[in-house]
Amino acid sequence: MILPDYVNRCIARLEENGFQAYCVGGCVRDASLGLTPHDYDLCTNALPEQTQALFSDCGLVLAGKKHGTVGVILNGDVVEITTYRTEGDYRDNRHPDWVRFVPGVEEDLARRDFTVNAMAWSPTRGFADPFGGRADLRHGILRAVGDPDARFREDSLRILRGARFSVKYGLTPEAATEKAMTQLAPLMENLARERVFEELCKLLPMVSAGDLIRFASILAAVIPELQPMVGFDQQSPHHAYDLFTHTAHVTGNVPADLNLRWAALLHDVGKIPCFSVDENGRGHFYGHAQTGAAMADDILRRLKAPTAIREQVVLLIDKHMTRLEPNKKTLRRQAARWGMETLDQLLHLQQADMGSKGTGKPEEMEQFPKIWGILQEIREENSCLSLKDLAVNGKDLMELGFVPGKAIGACLNHLLDLVLDEKVENQKDVLLEEARTFL
Ligand code: ATP
Ligand code: MG
Repeated sequence: MILPDYVNRCIARLEENGFQAYCVGGCVRDASLGLTPHDYDLCTNALPEQTQALFSDCGLVLAGKKHGTVGVILNGDVVEITTYRTEGDYRDNRHPDWVRFVPGVEEDLARRDFTVNAMAWSPTRGFADPFGGRADLRHGILRAVGDPDARFREDSLRILRGARFSVKYGLTPEAATEKAMTQLAPLMENLARERVFEELCKLLPMVSAGDLIRFASILAAVIPELQPMVGFDQQSPHHAYDLFTHTAHVTGNVPADLNLRWAALLHDVGKIPCFSVDENGRGHFYGHAQTGAAMADDILRRLKAPTAIREQVVLLIDKHMTRLEPNKKTLRRQAARWGMETLDQLLHLQQADMGSKGTGKPEEMEQFPKIWGILQEIREENSCLSLKDLAVNGKDLMELGFVPGKAIGACLNHLLDLVLDEKVENQKDVLLEEARTFL
């Protein structure tokens, strides 16, 4: 394992002062897989006070000191140095009830969630790998450290973390670990919602349809609205898949953008309450986009999602049945109303939705390349899509004799309409002429 210089210097300083120091956790796992770690955590038998004194010449982050962590800032990077510790239950489902400093690295590793995350390595001491994390990585196995049942009861977020590590590194949960993950998933109901949301945000961008299907019961434990979708027969000639399988494909097929992934995951939640069957035995879902948007709003509020994410996801779900057409005027209007980025996302969502029915109807898909082409043209033309893009502004209108007030806004909106409808060019003299008529 090759460490960046600043990490080596940290370890050396601790060792030169008679302490042990190892890299630990995610960075050892990633490096063992030949990946470049995104950060480096160290563990040591030095107490937080001692670490602090040793690095008193550096910038320090002391927010986690009570739990044993001193952050040392070295050329712009923070290295977290944590005293070997063990911890109690997560009775408030957020933090361990207590932490206790321990003398050996093995005890520290024993508190960690999975064997692949419970390895330490130092340039002088080599590997500490008491639970066989390296062998599990080699064999592609995700295994809880110790008794899986007890570990997931201590902190049930580990179940969702397990799903994420399984997906990210292609690890198959070992039988007892998998059984405990599935059986204890309902415990996640008690977790702090922010922790769940954050974890889902890490998971969603990297899942495939197959991953979502595999972990459906775990997802449904934290988003109960998904539960009735699993296995739900849509009774429609348009859909070969059950509702959750369809949802999983849409989610796996949209680009790995967080808002889009959330929108895809929740786009059809409204189908369950909106389901009806006609006299021919065919299923319908009238109004499911609007109902689904309201449900997604509830779900994301419950998960304490940031407002910006919630609002964008709700908008995309609300509009996901508003069929986009390969018509430049209409698309330009839609771009003006929702913004170019939202229009792009909507198109991605509709394309994935249409392409994930399992019925293989390619004619329906033919319109998408056309629409993408037109959107590209609109972009390249540098089209006027909002009042601020107009070649005239309020000041120009006042010079024309408009009195400050509502009339100016009304006139500007009128001019924008004319430009959007291609009735006039977005040119100053042309628009001023129109404004004169308006006045
Ligand atoms: P990444 O940062 O790439 O998502 P990571 O393994 O570094 O992965 P962190 O959340 O940064 O994950 O945690 C660092 C280490 O702390 C983990 O490798 C694991 O050993 C331990 N750990 C983190 N969260 C828990 C937890 N809830 N239960 C037990 N151990 C945990
Ligand atoms: Mg990490």
